[in-house]
Amino acid sequence: MKVLISEKRIAERIKSLAQEVRADYKDEVPIFIGILKGSFIFMADLVREYRAECELDFMAVASYGAGKSGTGVIRMVKDIGANIRKRHVLVVEDIIDTGLTSNYIRQYLALRQPKSIEFVALLDKHKARKIDINIKYTGFKIPTNFVVGYGLDYGERYRQLPYVAICDD
Ligand code: 5GP
Repeated sequence: MKVLISEKRIAERIKSLAQEVRADYKDEVPIFIGILKGSFIFMADLVREYRAECELDFMAVASYGAGKSGTGVIRMVKDIGANIRKRHVLVVEDIIDTGLTSNYIRQYLALRQPKSIEFVALLDKHKARKIDINIKYTGFKIPTNFVVGYGLDYGERYRQLPYVAICDD
């Protein structure tokens, strides 16, 4: 296990991301939708740095298969409770890899007719993209290695690590 992004760098980046997002939503009250489980720590840190009014909700999706590579077949595990019609939605993701999960989420949420849908992702493996998807806010562009920590798991382990590390298990 090798540290890729330290706790300090994550904290600094989230602070500036939160400022950027806040400036864009100005007087609106956006709904942040965290994608479980991987985004739970990022979501908690991001909203505490946001320092303006917002609402929160969560949804969970799963890609079939529990190893290091998903199958691209995505299913809904937990739906949102909020009514997002005519609201500004910001989807909070841990990591974008192929982009297939985010693409599914965007299409799913778009059916509910929000005023806008944007994405914020802490980590972006841009070289692994299989589908072109617009991620408005990105924390860090990273290589395609499998990473864990700061909410991200390998077989449900390592989510609690306060940093992001490359997992060679
Ligand atoms: P995508 O659909 O963009 O290929 O994959 C997104 C999902 O795959 C993420 O939400 C995450 O659950 C999982 N994933 C992709 N890369 C990694 C990684 O390096 N580490 C972990 N723990 N999960 C990953």
